[in-house]
Amino acid sequence: MQKMTTRDTSRSVLISGASIAGPVLAYWLNRYGFDVTLVERAPAVRSGGYPIDIRGTAFDVVERMGLLKAVQAAHIDSRTLTFVNAEGKSLATISPHDLAANEERDVELPRGTLTTLFYDLTQGGTVRYSFNDSIETLEEGSTGVEVGFKSGKRGRYDVVLGADGLHSNTRQLVFGPEEPFRRDLGFTFSGFSMPNNLGLSHGAIIYSEAGRTALALAVGESLELSVMLAYATEKTESGMRLSPQEQIERTADVFRSGGWEVPRMVEALRRADDLYFDTVSQIRMPRWSKGRVALVGDSAYAPSFFTGQGTSIAIVGAYVLAGELASHENPADAFAAYERITRPFVEANQDLPFRKGGTSLILRTQEELDGRSRMFASLMKGDVPKKDNDYVRQVHNSLLLPHYER
Ligand SMILES: Cc1cc2nc3c(=O)[nH]c(=O)nc-3n(C[C@H](O)[C@H](O)[C@H](O)COP(=O)(O)OP(=O)(O)OC[C@H]3O[C@@H](n4cnc5c(N)ncnc54)[C@H](O)[C@@H]3O)c2cc1C
Repeated sequence: MQKMTTRDTSRSVLISGASIAGPVLAYWLNRYGFDVTLVERAPAVRSGGYPIDIRGTAFDVVERMGLLKAVQAAHIDSRTLTFVNAEGKSLATISPHDLAANEERDVELPRGTLTTLFYDLTQGGTVRYSFNDSIETLEEGSTGVEVGFKSGKRGRYDVVLGADGLHSNTRQLVFGPEEPFRRDLGFTFSGFSMPNNLGLSHGAIIYSEAGRTALALAVGESLELSVMLAYATEKTESGMRLSPQEQIERTADVFRSGGWEVPRMVEALRRADDLYFDTVSQIRMPRWSKGRVALVGDSAYAPSFFTGQGTSIAIVGAYVLAGELASHENPADAFAAYERITRPFVEANQDLPFRKGGTSLILRTQEELDGRSRMFASLMKGDVPKKDNDYVRQVHNSLLLPHYER
């Protein structure tokens, strides 16, 4: 068990990004007596979004934050995962519970509900939020970091922490362009909402062909569907950043002549006011800190949604980073300890999609689709892949959470 050895109320921390990792960091740092400011590019904490999971070790962090009951109350309890053919006929219906490796320590809730819970927990204390702003310059001196903001404001902080996601601004400023750190997994997705004209509730419907997948998901009895259209990309185009209009046209082109509800989904994509798109990518960095700046969550180690673990490792990383900052006078020592404790857990989770036999919702070849169909057939016969689940569960829980309370 690690003990907090110092408590220096004068230490100031700037966090870039107020989604998952940012507010978790802010909560713990505030609790340890730091002076915390968050800067967020968006006008408010983003409330919408797809369902995310809290699993394994992250479950313990949420419990230590006193939020376990609240997140469990928000559990969306998806009951069915139905795979359909081009005519919409069911090929297989399975229970997500059969695929879950971690049943007792796994909560799935809308991302916006979780970000709001974390944000609310940091209210009423001394944590300051600065929305509609972003770091523009960082200059490190021997005793702190001078920060210039887009708004024209300036500030000086003992430590700066980047929790600003896959395309991290902090990483770009301190470590340079993202390309050397980004590992593209060869797919691009568009996520958006459309009216629930399928009468779907408590589950998802998936239509896959080799290289393209359409997915519709209903949270509970929602009148809106969360839709994802994902497609395989060539190596040369993978990682290319398209404009929203280019992405819409590219997606419409790839899904031309798609079966099931695809034509209606493409129409909805054109009208969507909440379109979110990106490549499916990981971030892999040899080091997560430089001087007085450290990265956490997707900015340092995005695992991609193929793992379903992005939120959980962001929560765990934020908890450990805050605790180590509270335990060390010197930021470099704190960052080294954070990395030593967290890296094996992070990398084991990032490696999950590359394991032999690992399956994904979005598949590239007919051979992979056939392999998935065989897995469903055995699942429907009650043959749950126990050995695989045991391994995944062990990875989700593979960090023994330190205690930092005095
Ligand atoms: C489609 C999809 C499905 C997913 N499904 C799952 C799932 O099932 N389970 C799961 O665990 N994870 C899932 N994830 C991953 C999960 O959303 C992320 O891993 C998690 O949100 C990481 O949190 P974070 O705080 O590190 O980064 P983010 O949530 O990306 O937050 C970054 C924050 O930084 C802000 N920001 C960005 N740039 C700047 C800037 N220049 N200045 C200031 N602020 C800035 C952003 O506005 C944002 O608020 C999914 C992701 C996607 C895209």
